[in-house]
Amino acid sequence: MKCRICHTKEANQTGAHIFPAWMISSAFDEESRTRDHEIIWTIRTVNTPRPFFGRQVKPDKIVETIGRELWEDEIKNQINPVTMDHIWCRDCEKRFSMIEEYFLINVDRKTENFNFGETCHILTLESVNVFLVRLFIYSVVVRADLVNFAGFKLYSKTQKRLVKFLNRYLAPDLSETIKRIDQSYNKGQLLRYPFRLIKTEHIKGDTSNLIYIHDRYEKPYCFLINRYILQFYGKGNHAIHKPTSFYGISGIISKSSNIRNYKETSFRLCLWNRDVWRKVLDRIVEVQATIEFKQIVKMVVNGYRKTYGYKPSRDQVNEMLKRIFDLN
Ligand SMILES: [Zn+2]
Repeated sequence: MKCRICHTKEANQTGAHIFPAWMISSAFDEESRTRDHEIIWTIRTVNTPRPFFGRQVKPDKIVETIGRELWEDEIKNQINPVTMDHIWCRDCEKRFSMIEEYFLINVDRKTENFNFGETCHILTLESVNVFLVRLFIYSVVVRADLVNFAGFKLYSKTQKRLVKFLNRYLAPDLSETIKRIDQSYNKGQLLRYPFRLIKTEHIKGDTSNLIYIHDRYEKPYCFLINRYILQFYGKGNHAIHKPTSFYGISGIISKSSNIRNYKETSFRLCLWNRDVWRKVLDRIVEVQATIEFKQIVKMVVNGYRKTYGYKPSRDQVNEMLKRIFDLN
């Protein structure tokens, strides 16, 4: 199979990260180690497979997490939901690593201070190359699209455009990439997709963050990638629409000053302290729990109907739910 990015080489990269390892590690490991130490849960409660355990997770940690050791077939059938095989090639993976490294050093590591005395703080990072930030954002969005992460799909036109940008500007090393950008007469086209990026405060050892893409919202597309919230518009003029609600995130954003990057000359990043972020996280859990609970009720009602031939009363449903949750 051919690489889905360059379309020329063999798609020979295995264990490729859909999101940079440094970006997601603290969601899966208390010590934020990047490979093989991860414990990855899915948010579902119904038909939930066991979490994915990285190879270096100690047996006692597994017992502590799920109350027993993994069975043979569970070990064999473990699937890491944030890595992929044979979608792109090793050379494209290297290009991704190069741009990830730029963002890590110049943005992520430079924004660890959240003591601004305000809940939302807007930073304008003057010394950061806006085009390189764009290429980083596009590399993440495109990878999520190519693997269809959590059902995510870009407009095919936008996807093709972003892949074209990646191929045109991303070189094997950073200096060549910068040269390509500098020499391009129409590099401005890179800045025509509006996006907002928010980084949230992290408390050491906390693994309650999520990797999630909303599969219904397109205006903008909404990503939660551990500490980062990304809202990305597939078309320039979509940004003038009121952002759709996203667990209260869009509401908070629209109240704060404009943090949109669009034809920008310097990159804007918004920092949210723990208080704001905690409220959003609670809201996400609440919404998901309600969805899952409704599914359980549906299962109970259907099971009852099949067994007894008629719909159970509300009291009967309550009684059965009580029994189910007492068992757990
Ligand atoms: Zn390739």
